[in-house]
Amino acid sequence: MGAQLNEPNRGRAVLVTGAARGIGWAIAQRFAAAGDRVAILDLMAGEDPEELVAWLDGTGHVVVQADLTDGEAVLAAVDSAAAQLGGRLDILVNNAGIFTAHPVTEVDYATWQEQWRATLGVNLVGAANVTWCAIRHMKEQARGGRIINISSRGAFRGEPDVPAYGASKAGLNSLTQSLALALAPYRIAVSAVAPGFVATDMTTDWLKPPGGDEIRAQSPFGRVAEPDEIAAAVFYLASAQAEWASGAILDLNGASYLRS
Ligand code: NAD
Repeated sequence: MGAQLNEPNRGRAVLVTGAARGIGWAIAQRFAAAGDRVAILDLMAGEDPEELVAWLDGTGHVVVQADLTDGEAVLAAVDSAAAQLGGRLDILVNNAGIFTAHPVTEVDYATWQEQWRATLGVNLVGAANVTWCAIRHMKEQARGGRIINISSRGAFRGEPDVPAYGASKAGLNSLTQSLALALAPYRIAVSAVAPGFVATDMTTDWLKPPGGDEIRAQSPFGRVAEPDEIAAAVFYLASAQAEWASGAILDLNGASYLRS
C-alpha cells in the first residue's frame, strides 16, 4: 500500500478506550512493546495516571480520563489524546465496555431500563462518539488509519442473562460494517473482533466454579482466552497488511461458537 499507515509497525499514535485494565491494557502493552505511542482513555485511571503509563514499554504514552457516556468529555479527551500524541491519530481501538446481568424475568422495570440505557450508552453510543471524534483527526491524514472494535461472541450467540450487552455488540458490528464502507475512501480500515469469554476482572465472578467450569467447557480447548490473545489479533488488524480485512468481524472464541 505504498508509504502509508505503518511501515514499519512502529511509532504510530494509538488510542485505546477502557485500557486501564483487562483486554484494553493488554492491547496498550502490545502496541507499546512494538514502539507505538499509546493514549489510554478510561473512566478510571487510578490516583496517578502517570504511574499507569510508566508500566508500558517505551515513552510518550498518555492517559486521558473521560466517561464514554458524556459526549462533551469524550470530545475533549480524544482531542487531548491526539494533541499529546503529536497531533495525529493512526489507530483507534474501541474496547471499553460494561457487562452486567439483567435477566428479563428477574429484574424490575426500572432496573431493566437502566441496564439498557447504561449498556448501550457505553458499548455502542460511547464507541460511536469516540469514533466520530477520532475520525476528525484520522481523515486529514494521507496515510489513513485503522479502527478496531471489540465486539463479542454474544452478538451472534445471544446473551440470555445480559441481553442489552448482546444487542450493544450486534450494534457495534453493524457500526463496524457501515463505517468500513464510509471510511474506505479515506484509507481508514474498520474491523472488529468478537471474543468469547476472556479472563479479566469483568468475568472473574462468571468464571468461578461451577458456572465457570461450564463456560470453560464451551470450548473444545477447555479454557477461556487470555487478554494477550485478543491483543495479538487487534495488533494484526491495525497493521498495514490488514487494510483488506476492513469490514471483517473476527471470531476469537476457541471454537466455542461456530457461526456460518
Ligand atoms: P474490564 O471490565 O476488565 O475493563 C473495561 C475497562 O473499560 C475498564 O478499565 C473500565 O474503567 C472501562 N470503562 C467502563 N465503562 C467506561 C466508561 N463509561 N467510560 C470509560 N471507560 C469505561 O473489561 P474487559 O474484560 O477487559 O473487556 C474489554 C472489552 O472486551 C469490552 O468491550 C468487553 O465487552 C469486551 N469483551 C470482553 C470479554 C470478556 O470475557 N472479558 C468477552 C468478549 C468481549
